[in-house]
This record gives sequence, structure tokens and C-alpha cells, in this order.
Amino acid sequence: MGVSLPVVNVAEAKFECIFGRGCDGICCHNGRPPVDTHEVERIEAHLPKFLPHLRPEAREVVEEHGFLSRRFKLGLPMLRVVDKYCVFFNQGCVLHKVGAMDGDKFLYKPGSCAIFPLMRNGEGNWYVRQHGYENEEWDLFCLNPNHSAMPAAESLKDEIALAIKYDEAAEEEETPTRESA
Ligand code: SF4
Repeated sequence: MGVSLPVVNVAEAKFECIFGRGCDGICCHNGRPPVDTHEVERIEAHLPKFLPHLRPEAREVVEEHGFLSRRFKLGLPMLRVVDKYCVFFNQGCVLHKVGAMDGDKFLYKPGSCAIFPLMRNGEGNWYVRQHGYENEEWDLFCLNPNHSAMPAAESLKDEIALAIKYDEAAEEEETPTRESA
């Protein structure tokens, strides 16, 4: 039986990442994802593994000043940008690459990057970001459903599975235990 997809527009959405095929990673350009305490701790703990993969100028900044900027979004610190790209960008996401080498591409990636292009709407339901849907403002090539015939339900299987995981974790947190009920 197929997984019931908690993504409201997945049946009609199209999405295809074309990184390396005309896109140089524009979604990480000035990318400053917010990171929570667990994500910061995980990146910090594995930083020596990431450093050799960083752009030399990004590595220098990270070694001297750390990977967090002084900016905050939704109360969370944001990653630094060096030369207009996220510090962890170097011909792709270093956190993604090292995570994949360690067996899980999402292992070290901030949640907001890992889940892209899924997002929650005002009702808390997941949807695929698309031009012309939910007032999407980001003018990315890959968010234009006219640029690919690839069904998002296929191309975003891993991201949808991650969204389900997030929902399950949130539900567990909200479910009162026998002791606390
Ligand atoms: S953490 Fe990775 S995916 Fe997120 S903005 Fe930085 S380089 Fe891009």
C-alpha cells in the first residue's frame, strides 16, 4: 500500500532539482537557514569532518568566527554567509555530501534545507512550493511547475518521508503520557 501523503498539492505539483545542469545552487545563494539547538550541536560536534570540504575562504571564517551569523529568524540563529553563499556551500551542500557519505544525506543538514521545497501552509499542512501557489514569491527556476514534467510525488519521496517523520515526532511530543495526562 502506498504512503498516504500529507502534502496537499502533491498530486499536481511538479519538481525537479537541476543542480549541476544549469543551476549552480542558487537556493544556497545568501542562504541563511535558521538552526535550532540540536542542529547547532550536531554541526559543532562533526565540524572537523566538514572543514576540509569547505571553500578556503569559508573555512577561514568558520575557524575564526564560527558558522553562526549574528542574525536570527523565528528566534533561531542563522548560518553565516561568505562571499554570498552559505558557509557550507561548496559546489553543493557540504553537510548534505558528508551526511550521504555517513549514510544519511539529511543527517547534518538544517531541517529547513532538508525539507525544501516542502513548506507548511497557514493550516499547518505541508505543500510543495510552486509558482502560483500559496503566493510563492521565490523566483527559482525549479519552483516553476512549467519547467519540468517530473511529478513531485516521485522526485520528493525522501523529503515527503522526512515531513512524515517531523509530523510523527511533533505528534509524539504533543501526546500526553499516562503519567502527565
Ligand atoms: S546548509 Fe547546505 S543546503 Fe542549507 S543553505 Fe547551507 S549549503 Fe545550502
